[in-house]
Amino acid sequence: MTTHKAHCLILPYPLQGHINPMLQFSRRLQSKGVKITIAPPKSFLKNMQELPTAVSVEAISDGYDDGGRDQAESFVAYTTLFKEVGSATLSQLIQKLTNYGCPVNCIVYDPFLPWAVEVAKTFGLVIAAFFTQSCAVDNIYYHVHKGVLKLPPTQVDQEILIPGFSCPIEPSDVPTFVIHPEAERILEMLANQFSNLDKVDWVLINSFYDLEKEVIDWMGKIYPIKTIGPTIPSMYLDKRLHDDKEYGLSVFKPMTNESLNWLNHQPTSSVVYVSFGSLAKLDTEQMEELACGLKNSNKNFLWVVRSTEESKLPKNFLEEIKLATVSKGLVVAWCPQLQVLEHESIGCFLTHCGWNSILEAISLGVPMVTMPQWTDQPTNAKFVKDVWEMGVRAKQNDKGIVRREVIEECIKQVMEEEKGKVIWENAKKWKKLARNTMDEGGSSDKNVEEFVSKLVTIS
Ligand code: UDP
Repeated sequence: MTTHKAHCLILPYPLQGHINPMLQFSRRLQSKGVKITIAPPKSFLKNMQELPTAVSVEAISDGYDDGGRDQAESFVAYTTLFKEVGSATLSQLIQKLTNYGCPVNCIVYDPFLPWAVEVAKTFGLVIAAFFTQSCAVDNIYYHVHKGVLKLPPTQVDQEILIPGFSCPIEPSDVPTFVIHPEAERILEMLANQFSNLDKVDWVLINSFYDLEKEVIDWMGKIYPIKTIGPTIPSMYLDKRLHDDKEYGLSVFKPMTNESLNWLNHQPTSSVVYVSFGSLAKLDTEQMEELACGLKNSNKNFLWVVRSTEESKLPKNFLEEIKLATVSKGLVVAWCPQLQVLEHESIGCFLTHCGWNSILEAISLGVPMVTMPQWTDQPTNAKFVKDVWEMGVRAKQNDKGIVRREVIEECIKQVMEEEKGKVIWENAKKWKKLARNTMDEGGSSDKNVEEFVSKLVTIS
């Protein structure tokens, strides 16, 4: 029988982009002798295409076991019931694991679920908050929580100075929930991530020191921050965990063979990979502009269009790209993104700037064209272009649409022109730094070590 040094219960928020990094962090802990149990809500587990086999899986309840968020009347209703039923079922789970002779020592929770702190305190457990967004974005929500950052700004071109940032930012760089008054309740939840953060033992952030030095140093004066990322499978970084090649949990079924076979037939660095992640919805006009921008760029492209988005593609587009002679494209409903980004045929990543996608592009050294849609994506896009200089931004017009000419131009800038060379050099630099940070003795590796060794001491 394996003896474990400690037992961590992982409590993720039920979204693909939130579970992936927590699961990956779990693999690192596990490799250092910690037992892991991950406990998403039942409603989320029900819809999984695949479940992780590397860690134990249990379930709590969000109060909507049949349909999850979609079944709730509103976001507020979902959050309220999740807190009530989630707290109760989490307590039951901790009790059950104790009864089975497998007591929990520590809860690692997503701060979208701040009530987990109270439950952990009742049981006297170590508690770690795990932020799945960038430290810069966390810093912005911290200032909203403190009431210091009050938006919407009166002028669209007003610069915003945020403590911990090396440069001012514009309203178009701020997470959308901060700007749009109709997102008040969501913003409240995001600011609430900090409501009881002074009671936790650790604040873990899925980022790495070199990437966000200034802001990490600034927030580190307030909270016990440890950066532990990028949390992507080890075989794409330090290669120390040999069985760690994929996240192991997916809401959608990847079209792996179709995607990789197609890429295998494309020349080196010739393909634009396009994906808007698991949630973003483009409107029909934007889909048409994107489709035309891709075609007009004369580059080959692999475009992930989720099945719920497919009807928005221009008429005959799929047939046309199959027959095209100049540029060829492949549209898939979902792909194995890490394997795609690692493929030598990829020349640039046109991305919605979800934080996982950004960290994956950085870790695999793929230059980006950014097309942020909502939530934290505009802030991530700002950093890609101006701080890490690893891409260009395809700007929206005043109607909120990115026109085809802009898309075409941005792709060409990254893949063809002088500017592209600098971006490619930077991409190589960041790839190396990302790898080093997770490798033995790197800053994130040391932080994971420290977390484990303190856990073992108190367990
Ligand atoms: N992803 C994938 N296949 C796809 C598109 C995305 O495996 O076709 C993965 C991607 O690698 C990332 C996650 O889905 O890990 C998306 O997370 P992100 O934070 O980028 O965006 P979100 O879906 O949260 O908007």
